[in-house]
Amino acid sequence: MKDLIDQLRAKHKLTPEGYRALLTMRDSQDVEYLMEQAREVAQAQFGKGIFVRGLIELTNVCRNDCLYCGIRRSNSNVSRYTLTREQVLDCCEQGFEIGFRTFVLQGGEWGEERSTWIAELIRDIRQRWPECAITLSLGEHTRETYAMWREAGADRYLLRHETHNKRLYSLLHPEGMTIQHRLQCLDCLKELGFQVGAGIMVGSPFQSLNSIVEDIMYLVDFKPHMIGIGPFIPQHDTPFSRFPAGSVDMTARLYAILRLALPQALIPSTTAMATLSPDGRLRGILAGANVVMPNLSPADNRAKYALYDNKASFGAESAQGINKLADELSLIGYHIDWSRGDFPNT
Ligand code: SAH
Repeated sequence: MKDLIDQLRAKHKLTPEGYRALLTMRDSQDVEYLMEQAREVAQAQFGKGIFVRGLIELTNVCRNDCLYCGIRRSNSNVSRYTLTREQVLDCCEQGFEIGFRTFVLQGGEWGEERSTWIAELIRDIRQRWPECAITLSLGEHTRETYAMWREAGADRYLLRHETHNKRLYSLLHPEGMTIQHRLQCLDCLKELGFQVGAGIMVGSPFQSLNSIVEDIMYLVDFKPHMIGIGPFIPQHDTPFSRFPAGSVDMTARLYAILRLALPQALIPSTTAMATLSPDGRLRGILAGANVVMPNLSPADNRAKYALYDNKASFGAESAQGINKLADELSLIGYHIDWSRGDFPNT
């Protein structure tokens, strides 16, 4: 096993069988060796600093109907909200005061007719905080919309591909959504000069080991600047309410494998990790993740952005709890890096 891990570290890729072996290995010493190697590579790249991003949940209004997601269109138990321009700017101001230099606008997917409103919002943020990075995570859109947002000043875009496997993709999404279109969007975002993030949920219903291997192969080939991966967590109003949650261990293992494959990638230890386990966030970092995205949304709205049950959004998971996060990180010898934290050499 160690040879395989050394090979991944040196060559940044393995055969599908190699990835499968790393995903299924059981010897705890082998797993610890993988984690150690991933930590070393992350530290060589970023030191012991962890980048932070202020997450602003812009809206839970969504035209899509992804079967796993609590804010899917057909969930009539969601009380829908959209932050006003002023609310968003207040969040940024608070975040800037705390020290954040990246703002992430995430939300449900809107129709193209509202893209200009978002472009104006991006322009306002860009003008007031020229030194900050603006990241968007607003779903699939036309090239025109993406180009307009890029032009308005957005720097990065997160769009998890969710799964590269065609069959699984169609089991997780409503008719009409396709992996081909998802991948086209990702290609388009890259062409437009965004730093781009792709990724998956771990342990989603019907997911197989083979499909995870496919996802790794895709990510290694696509080379996203950012990789967003978190365990699946059921939401009580969705068709997947009765499926079990994904595993923190398996997610951490994926962070480690992808760290070795893509040493420069920005990999967050995601909110879903913190939601499933009190030490989930730290375990992600000890597996080579180097980003945390505390919640900067207005406190009253957080419960309404319920992608899954019990989603963490307070304490160390909130921008206001940044000292708690700093304390946690210091327990394992890490600290917050307050810089913008762009992909190296961009
Ligand atoms: N509308 C945007 C943002 C979606 S929310 C988009 O389409 O990209 C961001 C991510 O949350 C999704 O990409 C998905 O991977 C994750 N997510 C949604 N529901 C989830 C659930 N039940 N458990 C875990 N992660 C979930």
